[in-house]
Amino acid sequence: METITFSDRLIERLAAATHVAVLTGAGISAESGIPTFRDPGGLWERFRPEELANIQAFLKNPALVQGWYAHRREIASQAQPNAGHLALVELESLSTRFTLITQNVDNLHQRAGNRQVVELHGNITHTYCIDCCREVTEAEMTAFEKGEAARCNACSGYIRPDVVWFGEMLPHGAFEAAQQAAQRADVFFSIGTSAIVYPAAGLPRIARQHGAYTAEINVQPSAIAGEMDEVILGKGGITLPLLVAALRAHRS
Ligand code: NAD
Ligand code: ZN
Repeated sequence: METITFSDRLIERLAAATHVAVLTGAGISAESGIPTFRDPGGLWERFRPEELANIQAFLKNPALVQGWYAHRREIASQAQPNAGHLALVELESLSTRFTLITQNVDNLHQRAGNRQVVELHGNITHTYCIDCCREVTEAEMTAFEKGEAARCNACSGYIRPDVVWFGEMLPHGAFEAAQQAAQRADVFFSIGTSAIVYPAAGLPRIARQHGAYTAEINVQPSAIAGEMDEVILGKGGITLPLLVAALRAHRS
């Protein structure tokens, strides 16, 4: 049994907070069985995400990239939110104002029940035509199974997932909303992210510069652990329920 301790300072700041903001990465979904970018990924292990998740790779071989995303979409749709996701729903319900900023595309925070979710990197459950930008249904996506690129029924443009690829801009307004939440937060958590993909990785620093108490939750220190007020080592599915319990105990 792991022992997890939170500082009194963290629990006090959290209990007194008006606005709590959370940044999550792939680690929060690891216990739901969704591989992070650094874990082995079976069939697709031989591809590095950087090699497939960009527009050049897509235009060169749309069927390959469509197949990779169909595989990831399948994993995400079979997965269930874990105890960490559910604790974040509880944390939202215990907070006056709450913003959940996620780099994940798996839709699990929404399925768990969080309401204020800012998706920095899009959502794998949505697909659109790169030419007419029409949102496309799953039924139009099947051509890649025969090794052909799936194309839009309306204009025959290639169909792509509504996610942010390497080298692309974040969705309009998403980073602004995240930045504003970081600036206004009294407590800011960075959970299950390696914190190497910018601009997301810069959010905890913005929060701290604006007076937030910053805490990281990860199974190992991230690239920015040294800049956080507190680093809690442990799995999201174990530490987050304990954190919510500590908050409830402090308040009662
Ligand atoms: P990452 O793979 O770079 O890092 C994952 C982090 O989670 C690591 O720091 C690891 O130590 C930590 N971790 C692993 N298991 C954990 C657990 N049980 N509890 C807490 N922490 C745990 O992922 P990232 O930082 O999100 O950044 C890479 C990019 O990957 C993002 O842009 C994101 O869009 C994309 N991505 C998303 C998903 C998803 O939607 N679930 C999955 C893989 C990658
Ligand atoms: Zn089209």
